[in-house]
Amino acid sequence: MKVGVFSTKPYTRTFFEEVNEVFGHELVFFESRLTMETAGLAAGLPAICAFVNDVLDARVLRTLADGGTRLVALRCAGFNNLDLSAAGKHNLSVVRVPTYSPHAVAEHAVALVMTLNRKIHRAAARVREGNFALDGLMGFDMHGRTAGIVGTGRIGLEAARILSGFGCRLLGYDVAENPDCVALGVRYADLDRLFAESDIISLHCPLLPSTRHLVNDKSIARMKPGVMLINTSRGALIDTRAVIDGLKSGRIGYLGLDVYEEEADLFFEDLSDQVIQDDVFARLTTFPNVVITGHQGFFTRDALDEITRTTLANISDYEAGRPCPNEISIDRLRK
Ligand code: NAD
Repeated sequence: MKVGVFSTKPYTRTFFEEVNEVFGHELVFFESRLTMETAGLAAGLPAICAFVNDVLDARVLRTLADGGTRLVALRCAGFNNLDLSAAGKHNLSVVRVPTYSPHAVAEHAVALVMTLNRKIHRAAARVREGNFALDGLMGFDMHGRTAGIVGTGRIGLEAARILSGFGCRLLGYDVAENPDCVALGVRYADLDRLFAESDIISLHCPLLPSTRHLVNDKSIARMKPGVMLINTSRGALIDTRAVIDGLKSGRIGYLGLDVYEEEADLFFEDLSDQVIQDDVFARLTTFPNVVITGHQGFFTRDALDEITRTTLANISDYEAGRPCPNEISIDRLRK
């Protein structure tokens, strides 16, 4: 099948070309992000492949459909950037990669925890400068600390497993309990209690209208003073301005982000020669107790291999008219 692959990076191309030797699709790579301005590139292509910051709103989907596209293959788990009802309206099938390596993202979340706790970012910079003083680098034992996991699905479960290995007490919040988490010793609590009792809060739920700005002025006020907040899920789970106020007051003691609500204009590009125009993001980078990575939780060899394989298999299913287990539609979500 002829597939337009948007937001292509050199590593995307390497994985797709290698894995596609088995699948034999005709791949057309576009470096540009999919937006209203670039949607025309897909004209005549029956399938497109999109990533986390590609725009798949009603206007873009309509342009794709008008150009002859029938399949949108997301090479990611989250689909908050896609208007599912518009896709249905334009007869566009949508497939995604619901699971690839929950380990990759969970391990990255814990890497952020440990970097912030033991101040590795500051320590490494100091040692390079020949400064071996330890002042300001004191951490805390993970053992015995309470970690609150918001969203105890695949990634939340893996994060809980790793944190349980440290000897943390685990609290969980989800709309549905995960028996594997219960078996691990996670105690489910309502959000208020999780916020009030956790030393570390890690977000692993999807971005939905109900979870948008889950962390806001009010919820921050309920958190333990000095709490560590980690977000490797989706940026808009957090009201960034409220978090900046929380950092300034000291209520938030540490912040680790792999995602940011306005990341689409920043992440995945080398902007090191440019002036960052986003003042909120720029402010975040000034705090000594904030570590930000540019949406790299998924970025392991194992995860990329699995993402590519599943994406190409999803496209093959569609082409062959086979039912695809990874198809998403409003009807399926309602079931
Ligand atoms: P999952 O579907 O296995 O788990 C999500 C969990 O969130 C489910 O248990 C679900 O019941 C729960 N949930 C739904 N609504 C909720 C609510 N209102 N409050 C609390 N919990 C709620 O998904 P996953 O594979 O664990 O992925 C979680 C999120 O991680 C994805 O939605 C995606 O946004 C993000 N992600 C980030 C990266 C990265 O590179 N940083 C990579 C993959 C996924």
